[in-house]
Amino acid sequence: MANKLTFDAIVVGGGPAGTSAAITMARAGLQTILIERGRFAGAKNFFGGVLYTHALDAVLPDWQSRGPALERPVTDTGYWLLSPDSVLRFTQKSERFKKVPAESYTALRANFDPWFAQQAVDLGVLVITKTTVTGFLRDEKGRVIGVTTDRPDGDVYAPVVIIAEGVNNLLTQQLGLAKSDLPPRFVALSVKEYLGLPEKEVEARFGLSGPDEGVAIDVFGDATLGLPGTGFIYTDRAGISIGCGLLLEQLVINNLKPYEILARFKNHPIIKPYLEGAERLEYGAHLIPETGYDRMPTLYTDGVMVAGDAAGMVDALHREGTNLAMIAGKIAGETAVEAHKQRNFSAEFLKEYRRRLQDSFVLKDLKQYRRMTDFLDSTPHFMETYVNFANEAAYRYFTAHGMAKRDMEKEIIRLLTRRRSFLGVAVDMIKLLRGMRG
Ligand SMILES: Cc1cc2nc3c(=O)[nH]c(=O)nc-3n(C[C@H](O)[C@H](O)[C@H](O)COP(=O)(O)OP(=O)(O)OC[C@H]3O[C@@H](n4cnc5c(N)ncnc54)[C@H](O)[C@@H]3O)c2cc1C
Repeated sequence: MANKLTFDAIVVGGGPAGTSAAITMARAGLQTILIERGRFAGAKNFFGGVLYTHALDAVLPDWQSRGPALERPVTDTGYWLLSPDSVLRFTQKSERFKKVPAESYTALRANFDPWFAQQAVDLGVLVITKTTVTGFLRDEKGRVIGVTTDRPDGDVYAPVVIIAEGVNNLLTQQLGLAKSDLPPRFVALSVKEYLGLPEKEVEARFGLSGPDEGVAIDVFGDATLGLPGTGFIYTDRAGISIGCGLLLEQLVINNLKPYEILARFKNHPIIKPYLEGAERLEYGAHLIPETGYDRMPTLYTDGVMVAGDAAGMVDALHREGTNLAMIAGKIAGETAVEAHKQRNFSAEFLKEYRRRLQDSFVLKDLKQYRRMTDFLDSTPHFMETYVNFANEAAYRYFTAHGMAKRDMEKEIIRLLTRRRSFLGVAVDMIKLLRGMRG
């Protein structure tokens, strides 16, 4: 990089948020540079994971004709309640899931992110990898006018910077927009393995008729030892993604190692047969921000906007993060384009970014689930109590034991109250409703 490199806009981070912002600005004609610290975009990223096409449509309407790096359409969604020895499955298969393109696809970030970044390059974005943004350049009034990098001649100037640095939001903190590192109560640690398996074998094990079908299963209960968190199993083209995530604080309190929980999940008698003979091709751990609406960083300041995980934009309940990141990146990009038209990069102007997010599902959903992490934190027994109870109740109710069904119903109620009093159940349900209604 030569000294005094000047662009219309700088994007920090080549994940879904940053690349979406860069694509949006390039399409509107802004000279845009995207700086990524990894060897390539995606080198440091992984997720479950399911990508949502509504977000791709919004950012890159012709994405289908660009050979997207996706694994399988999700045609079968499942919620499994796993107890130590059984599973209660809720799955949905629908003709609507068969539409092309599907509403969601499984993907591997090591493939998807480089493809997405390449689309930005094709649209004119300069993507610089192996470069870490270390700080900010300011004018005499203290306004951000560019970034410093770890390259000796690596200062880059632009009137607007979009920070999309992910969950470890050190730059956001440097600007004072986030007050501190994420507290362990409000961040989950997730571990995942990508296991290789022949395509036909994946299909046979999950009841899929071909590569145009795929499943996404969220697993509650014993996947995380009954602690607040979830497990997941997603089918990729020739492999399976399996993982689990728990709030960091729960790992500390219970002195648990995340990789041991995943190993236990994989060895669960119900889960193990799905994975038999599969070869581990990828293994990793990553944090997920669960800070929620009330603890989000400030989203803008003079010359700067923050998008995606860096701003805590994750709806963990619906395993949505990439779509929030992409839409926030797009809105930040559009706001930057408007700022250029008005030649106004002040915080006063950029607050339009937050206003537009507020009109979108991004901040509406985060606001609605603002109490969800508090709910999980204050009811650590929830998964174990109710998932195990549901399995036991279903087993008793749907098998014949020579007992009158009315007596069985009383027995099932006793089963519940042995685990939790009526008052305790009522309090848990009220807390759950409050967690879901904001
Ligand atoms: C295990 C797991 C499962 C998940 N499952 C799903 C799912 O199924 N569906 C879903 O929608 N979401 C899922 N998510 C969440 C989703 O992955 C994130 O919300 C999403 O990746 C956020 O995108 P982002 O662009 O904000 O950040 P990231 O994807 O983290 O990208 C940030 C980028 O910035 C770069 N960077 C950081 N600092 C610097 C710097 N100083 N200089 C230059 N570059 C920098 C990083 O290298 C990285 O490439 C999951 C997350 C995890 C961990």
